[in-house]
Amino acid sequence: MAIRRMLFALGYRYRLHVKALAGCPDLVFRSRKKVIFVHGCFWHGHSCPRGHRPSSNREFWDDKLGKNQQRDRRNVEKLVDAGWRILTIWECETHDTEALKARLTTFLNQIEEV
Ligand SMILES: [Zn+2]
Repeated sequence: MAIRRMLFALGYRYRLHVKALAGCPDLVFRSRKKVIFVHGCFWHGHSCPRGHRPSSNREFWDDKLGKNQQRDRRNVEKLVDAGWRILTIWECETHDTEALKARLTTFLNQIEEV
C-alpha cells in the first residue's frame, strides 16, 4: 500500500489493523493517539464517481452500503469518545502523492491542546 510506504519513509511508526479498537483501524499511532482509516470508495459510500451505487438491485445495495456507512459512523463516534483523533483517507485520494503526504504529516504532527 502506497500510504504505508510513505509513512515509513517519513519516519512514522504505527501498527496495522488493531482489532481491539472500534472499526479495526488500518493504521494506529498509539503514542499520538491517532488512527487512520483507508476506505474503499465503493464499499464505504464515498461521494465521488467511484462511490456510485449500481443502478440494478438498488434496494440491495442501498441496504448493504447504507449499513456500512452507519457502522463507519458508529466506529468513529466510539473512537472519538475514547479520545482518539481520526483521519479518513479515501481510495481516490491516494493517487495525488504530494497532497496525501501533506495531509498525513499535518494530521500526525498536530499537537493537541487539551
Ligand atoms: Zn472516492
